[in-house]
Amino acid sequence: MQTTYTKEELRAALAPLRGKRMVLVPTMGALHEGHASLLRQARQLAGAEGCVVATIFLNPVQFDNAGDLATYPRTPMQDLEICDKCGADVVFMPSSDAMYCADRSITMEETHLSSVLCGASRPGHFAGVCLVVNKLFNLVQPTDAVFGKKDYQQLAIIRRMVRDLDIPVTIHGAEIVRDEDGLALSSRNVRLTTEHRAAAPEIRRCLLAAREAYASGAECAMVCASVRESLENIPGVRCDYVELVDAETLHAVTDTHRLALLAVAAWFGDVRLIDNIELSRS
Ligand code: AMP
Repeated sequence: MQTTYTKEELRAALAPLRGKRMVLVPTMGALHEGHASLLRQARQLAGAEGCVVATIFLNPVQFDNAGDLATYPRTPMQDLEICDKCGADVVFMPSSDAMYCADRSITMEETHLSSVLCGASRPGHFAGVCLVVNKLFNLVQPTDAVFGKKDYQQLAIIRRMVRDLDIPVTIHGAEIVRDEDGLALSSRNVRLTTEHRAAAPEIRRCLLAAREAYASGAECAMVCASVRESLENIPGVRCDYVELVDAETLHAVTDTHRLALLAVAAWFGDVRLIDNIELSRS
């Protein structure tokens, strides 16, 4: 595995690999089993002939909260080990200065899917995501890229960006990896207090109960209210949003025959956790 820190080093590492299938896995580091599953999926897609490129970049442009950026866990040495173990060929780990020019002045705004869910409570977040992912696509020029369904809205927005800008890359969505107790793995989980870590699997229990309720015909508003009530019963927990939306448009469900998405963001103390579940009515 080759580790690169500048755009020049990355380009030089990728030059001999051009023309092969090249699968990109963008991450912000503090890697866990969820990231590892994306890397393994990328390795499978690339096959023995192709190449897997992992990027580890804590993108400041997508943080709407300075405290969150300052306290975001950083484990670069462990991250490189995981990338190596999961079969990455090249890792790109730039500093912020290596990635962005100080006087950068181009933004990338998605205007429909970004107006709801996390986009509504984190202004500028998805513009920052689109900017960095677009830059990574241009630098790496991958044939494929893998993103997790844990960040379902991000995946939908990236699919939209690729479609609307005709970016020649195939996007793959990877299933959410969870701890044994059901909590979706997240780099932020290490920041939970012992009490909140013990209570956090309640999110998954609520989502599973909601899936049953929706399948048996419960009203969207009732499903959401019940999840919100259960979570806000936990001391120190406040829901940012609990919304049941169309899984593709991310806006209100208008046709219950289509796949729906129940998405939750909740503050457990000062740690914001997100999770989601796809719902359908047969
Ligand atoms: P992040 O480092 O949080 O930006 O995440 C990098 C990629 O890993 C994104 O595509 C995430 O959706 C994905 N990811 C993060 N956590 C998980 C998880 N628990 N299961 C599956 N994918 C995940």
